[in-house]
Amino acid sequence: MVDVSQAAATLPIATDGGVRSCGGCTACCEGGLWDKSMKLSPGHACQHISPEGCGIYESRPEKPCRTFKCAWLTEEAEFPDAMRPDLSGAIPVHDRDWYDWKVLRLYPRVATVAPEVLEWFVAYAKPKQEPVIFYEHRWEGDDYKGMSEKALGPPKFAEDVQRKPSESDVFRSFSND
Ligand code: SF4
Ligand code: SF4
Repeated sequence: MVDVSQAAATLPIATDGGVRSCGGCTACCEGGLWDKSMKLSPGHACQHISPEGCGIYESRPEKPCRTFKCAWLTEEAEFPDAMRPDLSGAIPVHDRDWYDWKVLRLYPRVATVAPEVLEWFVAYAKPKQEPVIFYEHRWEGDDYKGMSEKALGPPKFAEDVQRKPSESDVFRSFSND
């Protein structure tokens, strides 16, 4: 995996729609997310990533490169600068509900979301009664062994999880913390 976190300045990866730009972050191109067309998967960064950012910035495809925006990029008022994905190690995404629940998904930049970062996002989501779904990748050496999906959410969410089909390993209620 290419470590580009220390790059002084990179081209913005996402199309900037708001006040923020990606700055030096290239976390969503580094293999924390999946995309068949760009051959992105855990541990496999995009072949076009470089220490300067996207190597084909002007001609990068519409999907996912120009359309994907993490929640940190689009919700400036919600997420502080320190939570930029390359700095926090977690990519927050607000683009997919879980049944009727609006959820915040956290994808680790590498393998797992650090406990203090998860704690920050849960503290952010709890007053909104918004479940946080987070992912953990497992490797044995260089062999990718799969992903766990876990969540923390309000009691009603935990009840729903018991009743609805889910591939998730663990769903816990905020109230059990
Ligand atoms: S993870 Fe977010 S801030 Fe980082 S490059 Fe992707 S869209 Fe930009
Ligand atoms: S082509 Fe560029 S923007 Fe798209 S995934 Fe690769 S490095 Fe990221």
